[in-house]
Amino acid sequence: MSMSTPRSTDLPRPAGPADASRVASRLAALHAEARTELDHRDAFELLVATVLSAQTTDVRVNQVTPELFSRWPDPAALAAADEGAVTEVVRPLGMGATRARRLIGLAQGLLARHGGEVPDDQAALEALPGVGRKTAHVVRGAWFGHSLLAVDTHVGRLAQRLGWTTATTPRRVEEDVVARVEADGTGAPEEDLTILGLRLILHGRRVCTARAPRCGQCALVDLCPREGVA
Ligand code: SF4
Repeated sequence: MSMSTPRSTDLPRPAGPADASRVASRLAALHAEARTELDHRDAFELLVATVLSAQTTDVRVNQVTPELFSRWPDPAALAAADEGAVTEVVRPLGMGATRARRLIGLAQGLLARHGGEVPDDQAALEALPGVGRKTAHVVRGAWFGHSLLAVDTHVGRLAQRLGWTTATTPRRVEEDVVARVEADGTGAPEEDLTILGLRLILHGRRVCTARAPRCGQCALVDLCPREGVA
């Protein structure tokens, strides 16, 4: 057998869930630069970009938002936009008409209920068209500075493999991860749930991928029980 990097099946698996505090500090060293990858200059742009990121990638969203924000730079402009014109701009993301309707409805909601401002309030955000718990957490975490876990597919997968959850719904995953961090955490800054979530996403994209996790090259391998990994 080759003496190269060991396969995941060759490595011992810790019994029980990975220690969240140690995972957080390793990820902090590994992905110190983690931040939201959606380009934005204010809370409105971050909210719109996050809504647009459903069922597409951040990279693709960043390709359409410069024109979108240049033509409709604030909720008042977007609320009054021609739906066909917005559809044309967001069409490269797929479901152009649906996305355009959603954005215009979102802008109208911001204007009618919040004077055109993005509210720093979970329930108020979730009441806006197209905004769910994850989007509200992204905006309140990345823009307003709250410690909030935004659970996407990468966070859900990592949380399962690290033994932090067996849940499959984002809300249950979030509850389990928050409970694990509270149980294991030291309160260090890297355990801020917003930044921990961003680092889990980066780790999921770069190392712990859905189809072929690179456990042999993973900085968490001695901590991770690798639940569900062959
Ligand atoms: S790559 Fe492997 S060791 Fe690393 S977090 Fe994923 S499952 Fe765990």
